[in-house]
Amino acid sequence: MKAEIISIGTELLLGEVTDTNASYLATQLLPLGIDLYWVSGVGDNQDRLVEVLKRAWQRSELILATGGLGPTGDDLTREAIAEMLGEKMEIEPSLERALRERFGRMGIEMPLSNLKQATIIPSAKPIPNAAGTAPGWWVERDGRLLLAMPGPPRELQEMWQKEVQPRLYQRSASIIVSRTIKTVGLNEAAVGELVSPLFSITNPTFGVYAKPDGIHLRLAAKAEDRKQAEEMIAESEVKIRAVLGDYIWGVDDDTLETVTGRLLVEKGLTLAVMEDSSGGWLAASISDIPESPSFFKGGLVACSNEAKVAFGVDAEIISRYGAVSPEVAQAMAEAVKTLLKADIGISTTGIKETRETPMGITYIGIADGSSSVAVGRARRKQMVISSALFELRKLLLSSEKK
Ligand code: AMP
Ligand code: MG
Repeated sequence: MKAEIISIGTELLLGEVTDTNASYLATQLLPLGIDLYWVSGVGDNQDRLVEVLKRAWQRSELILATGGLGPTGDDLTREAIAEMLGEKMEIEPSLERALRERFGRMGIEMPLSNLKQATIIPSAKPIPNAAGTAPGWWVERDGRLLLAMPGPPRELQEMWQKEVQPRLYQRSASIIVSRTIKTVGLNEAAVGELVSPLFSITNPTFGVYAKPDGIHLRLAAKAEDRKQAEEMIAESEVKIRAVLGDYIWGVDDDTLETVTGRLLVEKGLTLAVMEDSSGGWLAASISDIPESPSFFKGGLVACSNEAKVAFGVDAEIISRYGAVSPEVAQAMAEAVKTLLKADIGISTTGIKETRETPMGITYIGIADGSSSVAVGRARRKQMVISSALFELRKLLLSSEKK
C-alpha cells in the first residue's frame, strides 16, 4: 500500500515546532508493510491544504494527516477535506453530545467554536480521541483511505495505538521485520561497498547510516508473515557477518556501553579510567551502565600535566613525548589501573576539536594485566567514547580466544 503523510500547521513551517508526528508515523508504517512514499508539510491555509490533499488523493492509497483539528479559525483540516471531496460538513449529534459531556465533566460550558469538532462528512467516520476533544476522521472513498488525526503528539500517538494501528494491521497483507547491525572501524562507504553485492535492491532492503557510535546497517524484510520475514533477515545477517565479521559489535537496541558492560560482568573484571580530552564523558557513559557498580572502580579527569603526574604518570614520559601522544596514553592507562587497583585501565589524551584545531586528535590507551598499548585515535568526543569502548570490547573478546 502506497502511503503519504501530511503534517499540517504553520508553526511547523516556521520551525517553531519540530514535526515529530511524521517521524513517529513513519516508524509505525514500516512494520505494517506499508510503503511510505511522501511526507509533506503545509501551513494553516485552506487553499494550499486543499492543493496538497488533492495531490495526495491522486497518488496515494493511504493518506495520514495530522494537525488542524483544533477549535480555532486556523484549524482547517476538516474544511479542506470536505472541499477536496466536494462533501458537506454536518454536525453529528452523537459527537456533539459527547463533546458537551466532556466539557461538562470539566465543569465548563462548551465554547461555540468547539462545535466544529463535532462535524463530519458522509464519507467519514469519527475516530475517538481519548486524550483530547478533537475526534479524528476516518475517510474512505474511491479506494482511498484518508485519516485525519490531531496534532498534539500525545493525542496522535494514543489515537494511533488504540484506534488506527489495530485496524490497519488487520488490513495489511504483509509485514516488515527489520534488524540493525552496528559496526565500528569502517566508514560508511566501506560498509556499503562490502555489503551491497549481497543484496538485490528490493527485498530485503538495506540502508547504511553513520551514527555517533559507528556505522549502522539496517535490514528490512517484507513477507506475508513474521516467521518468513524473520527467516529472510536471519539469512541476510549470516551473509553480512561473514563479510563484516569483527567490525560488528551489536544489533538493534545494543549500545557499546551495554555490550562491554555485559562482557566485564561475565569475566568478573574491574575497570578504571583516566581522561584528559574526554573530560569525564567516558566515566559518565560507563557509569550509565546498570551493572557498572559491580565492575567500575572509578575515573580521574587529568587535564593538566600536573594532574597526570599526581595520578602516577611518569613526568619524564610526558616531557619526552608530549602530553598528546600514544606513549602518554599508555602510561595514563597503566597509572590508573595501578592507582585504583583495577584489572583494566583506559585513558584518553588529546587536543579537542575546536575552531583553532579543527583536526582534534585523541589517543586512547588500554592497560590490562599483560600489556598496555595505545589502541586508537579519534577526533570527536562521542567518537572517542565509542572507540574506547569498542577497543575495550575487543580486548575482552581477544582474551577469551587466548
Ligand atoms: P492542532 O491539531 O493543529 O491544533 O495542533 C496542536 C498542537 O500540536 C500544535 O500547536 C503543535 O504544538 C502540536 N503539533 C501539531 N502538529 C505537530 C507535528 N507534526 N509534530 C509535532 N507537534 C505537532
Ligand atoms: Mg494547528
